[in-house]
Amino acid sequence: MDTHDVVVVGAGLAGLSAARALTTAGRSVVVLEARERVGGRTEGAHLSDGQWVELGGQWIGPTQDRMYELVHEHGLRTVATYDDGEMLFSLGGRTRRMSSAKGAVPRLNPVALADLAQGVARFGRIARRVDTEHPWLTPDAGRLDAQTLHTWVRRHLRTAAGRAYFDLFAEAVLATGSGDVSLLHALFYTRSGQDLDTLMATGAGAQQDRVEGGSVLLSERMAEPLDVRLGQVVSRVEQDDRGVTVGTRDGRRWRARRAVVALPPTLAGRLVHRPLLPALRDQLTQRTPAGSVIKVYAVYPTPFWREEGLNGQVASDRGPVKVVFDNSPPGYPRGILLCFLEGPAAREWSGRDAAERRQAVVDCLVGYFGPRAAEPVEYLERDWSTEEFTRGCYGAHFTPGTWTGFGSALREPVGRVHWAGTECSPVWNGYMEGAVRSGEATAAEVHSRLG
Ligand code: FAD
Repeated sequence: MDTHDVVVVGAGLAGLSAARALTTAGRSVVVLEARERVGGRTEGAHLSDGQWVELGGQWIGPTQDRMYELVHEHGLRTVATYDDGEMLFSLGGRTRRMSSAKGAVPRLNPVALADLAQGVARFGRIARRVDTEHPWLTPDAGRLDAQTLHTWVRRHLRTAAGRAYFDLFAEAVLATGSGDVSLLHALFYTRSGQDLDTLMATGAGAQQDRVEGGSVLLSERMAEPLDVRLGQVVSRVEQDDRGVTVGTRDGRRWRARRAVVALPPTLAGRLVHRPLLPALRDQLTQRTPAGSVIKVYAVYPTPFWREEGLNGQVASDRGPVKVVFDNSPPGYPRGILLCFLEGPAAREWSGRDAAERRQAVVDCLVGYFGPRAAEPVEYLERDWSTEEFTRGCYGAHFTPGTWTGFGSALREPVGRVHWAGTECSPVWNGYMEGAVRSGEATAAEVHSRLG
């Protein structure tokens, strides 16, 4: 049995960041990864002409400082998301053009505009009061956590347009329906990534930049100097007075003084723990489901939408594709539309026939961009809910009552077992930045406890 200072479970950005920091601090670390690749919810792929694309997480933006620093430290560069021209905003069957600049608002009637503006301002005011380190200590946390985002929106917004904005926020950002998520969680998540405008925007927002070559390159480069063992599906974590024994599905065992479990909470809760985890911790992971996303690429001979002054971005209340981006990297001659099926649409379409799903996606694109969208020359999709070692994305969302009833168990180590992952981060929770920050914070905690 191998013996180390620390066993890290999971080679996503959180696990790799934890392992990197601990190794730098002089600890012996082994990382056990179930897949035959590193990167977790970031993953690379190539089109038939060799062009790189990303099947998972891809964008970074201002205030995601650790991601930018790591990208540059590892000899990588960023490229800007295509954002020249107007986007399409489709509501109630009517499609309008609008600016995609941060804070821009669609051209709505004055009543809807006023409703939306007061709703966004009100949400922002409450979000600024959230204690992102300890959301359960937020003023009025009990009341905020006892309702869903949907309930709050129906109470405080009167118009279809105002309500549609928040429903789209839930689907596009949290990858779930607004009725599935605690209001406190929606506020926390928004605050952890600055504010609604930042989360939704491209330029000066969360969708501003990408890593040239694909975000997975960062994980691959971080993993190079580390001891990462691929294909190790961890199934058991046993601890005693002197250390932790981590067991894999095929019966291998690894011994360490401490362990870092860097998995999405639901998957962390599926491991067999001996002794049993405290009830609060187990019940927390029973209440933190992952969102649902199918990420789709439709590739065209040219980015034809640009000829009409469009930047390829769509925000719509019409499904199944409600969010679209132009993902063609600078200088690439063909046009790549990146489409998301999120939340309820992803759930509905996940189990359906692939050809039927493709047709539904293409029909949506024709609705937005006209008949030239009818025949993509290439089509690629990834349904993250069906991935055994992820089972949904972008991250976990907390259901009503979870932050206030169980939140204190999220980061609290259990004996020699510590937790990491983007879901643990008070900053940019759910994002790659949150994963890195969480891994580094947990590494500092483990290092100090190792003495
Ligand atoms: P993960 O990446 O999930 O890492 C967990 C690791 O544990 C994985 O490698 C997994 O294989 C492994 N594992 C699971 N079970 C076991 C086991 N039993 N034994 C051993 N190993 C196991 N974020 C952004 O910042 N910008 C974006 O644009 C963005 N878009 C996204 C789009 C999609 C489609 C997806 C899927 C995610 C997106 N995200 C985005 C979210 C971002 O990718 C994640 O927040 C981040 O990558 C999570 O990292 P992590 O290390 O916390 O978790």
